[in-house]
Amino acid sequence: MMRTNLLGLDLKGLEMFFSDMGEKPFRARQLMQWMHQYRVTDFAEMTNFSKDLRQKLSEKAQVTLPEVLQEHISKDGTRKWIIRLSCGNSIETVYIPEDERGTLCVSSQVGCALACTFCSTAQQGFNRNLDASEIIGQLWLANEYLGKDPKGKRVVTNVVMMGMGEPLANYNNVITAMNLMRDDLAYGISWRRLTLSTSGMVPMIDKLREDCHVSLAISLHAANDKLRSEIIPLNDKYPISELLAACKRYVAGAQQKRHITVEYVLLEGINDSEQDARDLMRILKDLPTKINLIPFNPFPKTSYRCSSKPVMARFKQQLVDAGFVATIRKTRGDDIVAACGQLAGEVQDRTRRTQRIAEALVTR
Ligand code: SAH
Repeated sequence: MMRTNLLGLDLKGLEMFFSDMGEKPFRARQLMQWMHQYRVTDFAEMTNFSKDLRQKLSEKAQVTLPEVLQEHISKDGTRKWIIRLSCGNSIETVYIPEDERGTLCVSSQVGCALACTFCSTAQQGFNRNLDASEIIGQLWLANEYLGKDPKGKRVVTNVVMMGMGEPLANYNNVITAMNLMRDDLAYGISWRRLTLSTSGMVPMIDKLREDCHVSLAISLHAANDKLRSEIIPLNDKYPISELLAACKRYVAGAQQKRHITVEYVLLEGINDSEQDARDLMRILKDLPTKINLIPFNPFPKTSYRCSSKPVMARFKQQLVDAGFVATIRKTRGDDIVAACGQLAGEVQDRTRRTQRIAEALVTR
């Protein structure tokens, strides 16, 4: 009999698990704290459970984590973990410390099927979705490796679903993991500090709005459909106007004030002209946004180059002068190949499968 990995169940899932066992649902809350707050994986150590229950749990269930293969620490303090999964593939997770916060960049898939031309993960192809335990396991492992802050503060204060993969293409597992991130009995991260980034899967953005309250970032990268389709094939299926309409629905009707983070990677000679900046402002004028300009991070065999510093500064200034909130993302961890778009892991591509999935995603 397969034992259920309880690490990948959110509160609802755990409550169901216990009631199926004929146990009281409040056990779910206790177990969640043991697993995620005390990081106890052995039922024998869960002292507020009876001996009988501990025995039953160890017969039916387990708490299993993926394994850290390597840890790399950058000159700037950024850390990258290469994490091996039971299938033999590996993924990457990155921790970025800043003065007032620590951000964990979490992966959602082994590889990616979307084939964005400027992203290193895309060059690896796609193998499979991560399950919820493998997604939340990255946060668990980061907390374990980072240990306690000397002042007792939380070490991981923010999570961004911006690692390998397209999170909205692995919807259910990502939602379950984000429910755990948000749950006070697990990690207690507020929705403002939990951001999901998508290349623009429009129907899933609408579903996310209903299912799980988090901050949304979109990988826009171009202000017209011709260019965006060239660099992000998914744009053929969900063009810019539809994507921005979904963003408007996402911010509308929310009780708290929301904005959309717009990611825009600066590619020299491709999307960094003064006209590009004007086009960007025109299409974003009715949406509350923060524009995050990302210096392009190179990877082997790419022919793209990052815009020069003065060009990036001019692009940003154009936006700021017109009243937009725009920042240039500081490149972190590039000496350990941990920067945006550089995460590759070790992915056995299942090319025919990748093609099939990519086609299903991209064609209307
Ligand atoms: N698939 C999701 C999650 C990945 S987030 C998405 O597309 O949003 C990673 C961010 O880094 C995205 O905005 C992505 O477009 C950007 N990125 C990809 N390759 C990059 C590169 N080489 N340099 C800088 N940013 C890159």
